[in-house]
Amino acid sequence: MSELLSEFQYNTLLDYKRKKCIILEDLLQEVNKDMVFRFLGGLRIEEHKELTESQPILDFPIPKRVVIPLKQHTGAVLEPLVKKGDMVKIGDKIGDSKAFVSSPVHASISGKVTSIETHPIPTGEVVPSIIIESTEEDPIEEIVTENRRWEELKREEIISIVRESGIVGLGGAAFPTSVKLSPPEGTSIDTVILNGAECEPFLTCDHRLMLESPDEVIIGLQIIMKVVGAKQGIIGIEDNKKDAIEVLTNRAKNYRDIKVVSLPTRYPQGSEKHLIKSLLNREVPSGKLPLNVGVVVNNVQTAYSITNAVCKGVPLISRVITVSGDGIEKPSNLRVRIGTQFKDILEYVGLKKETKKVISGGPMTGFSQWTLEVPVIKGTSGIIALTKIEEEIYPCLRCAKCVDACPMGLLPLELGNLAEQKRFDDAQRLYALDCIECGSCAYICPSRRPLVHLIRFAKAEINKKRRR
Ligand code: SF4
Ligand code: SF4
Repeated sequence: MSELLSEFQYNTLLDYKRKKCIILEDLLQEVNKDMVFRFLGGLRIEEHKELTESQPILDFPIPKRVVIPLKQHTGAVLEPLVKKGDMVKIGDKIGDSKAFVSSPVHASISGKVTSIETHPIPTGEVVPSIIIESTEEDPIEEIVTENRRWEELKREEIISIVRESGIVGLGGAAFPTSVKLSPPEGTSIDTVILNGAECEPFLTCDHRLMLESPDEVIIGLQIIMKVVGAKQGIIGIEDNKKDAIEVLTNRAKNYRDIKVVSLPTRYPQGSEKHLIKSLLNREVPSGKLPLNVGVVVNNVQTAYSITNAVCKGVPLISRVITVSGDGIEKPSNLRVRIGTQFKDILEYVGLKKETKKVISGGPMTGFSQWTLEVPVIKGTSGIIALTKIEEEIYPCLRCAKCVDACPMGLLPLELGNLAEQKRFDDAQRLYALDCIECGSCAYICPSRRPLVHLIRFAKAEINKKRRR
């Protein structure tokens, strides 16, 4: 245990937080018997969703050049299946790996492979990538090759289609979906949750997708339920998206085993563990996965992509993103080909010259960009451009606001200190690996301490040591 805090002090603090939460929950349950369950910590944050929530999804023009990274998922780096000079058609598989935790990539435009080279991606890594230059117009409809009835497919067939189509979690983590759909022998899954919370500020791409393509979202949920053998499906949506709740609730009336639940708007409601707590009152223990409590969680956009892959044979070659922030002339929701460069998208929507920062993803969990020559990858949910940033960092006031805000019951100020002192073993003992990198602690900190960066650093060092 850290010298800065005894085990007794730590447990007392945690107990205090849990009791505060339970007392509040009991009081609320007196008023509303159907309430969802409240999780520890969390925040109400400024959302700025009004910039794009009424903007229908537009198809971004077919790019002249795409950069397809061979690592854009959690798992092994892929091997290229093409070489410089090859001609590829939209939808062709161009990279794959034999590793179980991996997901192939496909050509998102037709054209010529002009090079295979290392390239920066939005997560800050530099990875081998396939560059394709366009030679023709290639609407997505061209690759609609199938008209399959998912009900007639066997479980193994569906998993194989999902894998071959390169489907990964589109909420940000990009974990291969075929792996998620293949729980270890003996695991019993009773519930599939679709994550429609979209709790990050600015982002509205999932909101628009639920409104505009509710049938594909529900079919995707049914397919997942069939594969994992779940008896019920729940779509959890924050109550700041009332129109999406209404549309999906109307559709769900046709299915006895599917329901839509309105969740309080509270960050980070969309984290897997917190969704499970809110909807089912189950806690995923430290170091365990949702499947250990009988649940599989998928993002609504992942469900939509599963429907496209299984029913129409369309691999994951595009996704919907939100482009927003006060640095953008025309905030938009766009369907873009995977591999489209940020600079092309920002030129299309107009990037104001006062912009100080461009973020990939939402501002709470996203990555600041040092170059705009990065491609949209499967996990890119948005591009946010901001004109104001506060950079001054002050010493810790020991106000404990970060402790109150942490939804994982951690002590961010202590973890930040330990990371600065490179005391990674102590950070591990204070459960640094349980940090979900939600950014609540950094958001609330009056001294603007870079707590998430520090904890991310400590986690990376701990994991490095564990792999040795
Ligand atoms: S919120 Fe910031 S200033 Fe307050 S205790 Fe945490 S790290 Fe220190
Ligand atoms: S980033 Fe980690 S430490 Fe900070 S509030 Fe979120 S879970 Fe807690």
